[in-house]
Amino acid sequence: MHVVVNAAMSADGKLSSRRREQIEISGPTDFDRVDQLRADSDAVMVGVGTVLADDPSLTIDDPDRRAARTERGEPENPARVVADSRVRTPPDATVLDGRAQTYLLVSEAAPPDFIEEMEDAGAYVIAAGRDRVDLTTTLAKLEGEGIDRLMVEGGGELIFGLFEESLVDELFVYVGPKIIGGRDAPTLADGDGFVEDFPELELAGVERVDDGVVLHWTAEN
Ligand code: NAP
Repeated sequence: MHVVVNAAMSADGKLSSRRREQIEISGPTDFDRVDQLRADSDAVMVGVGTVLADDPSLTIDDPDRRAARTERGEPENPARVVADSRVRTPPDATVLDGRAQTYLLVSEAAPPDFIEEMEDAGAYVIAAGRDRVDLTTTLAKLEGEGIDRLMVEGGGELIFGLFEESLVDELFVYVGPKIIGGRDAPTLADGDGFVEDFPELELAGVERVDDGVVLHWTAEN
């Protein structure tokens, strides 16, 4: 599976404020780039923290891109994937609105009642990992479901978890012209942080977009 991480951060490296509310960091040109990345993916993934904070749809905005997918024999929208160890996704979350197939990755600690509720809401549940989602195993299972190209839209906890398991192949970061600050504000990669064996990246491209810049990196796994 090819895993592409995309996120927008402020000039000081924050994904949002300490209140964990969605902040507009990029502009229309970058939204369009992200829409194309979605359209080029089999699935789009976020952590449950992002579902709870932003309630994203993760669907494609541009009707022409949806039509092009349909013409290629693909679903109109890529599948949606949420890493959610204990099922904190609310049953009325937008990712469960039926506009795309939704996979919920859970751990063995997920309460069976909650799993049933998600299945009733239309989600396909994949379980691996004792207390936390085992990303290596669940992504391999997703590949078995035909998901070869996975786009990850955040947040910082999930992105760190993917780097920790050496699962990231490409990273796109839009760096926008804002300072958000705050020691508790989410950054591109949170988690426990690395103290050694830091993942190394290779710079593949730099492009000025709107009033910021898109950095494109590839990861050595
Ligand atoms: P997140 O990364 O979306 O979700 C983190 C949660 O995912 C974890 O707390 C964990 O909850 C679950 N998870 C399950 N398995 C995991 C694993 N193996 N590794 C890591 N996480 C795992 O949440 P976040 O870091 O709090 O980020 C949310 C914030 O980022 C919001 O403020 C949102 O607005 C912002 N955001 C910004 C962008 C951007 O591009 N600027 C993009 C996305 C989000 P459980 O233990 O309960 O499973």
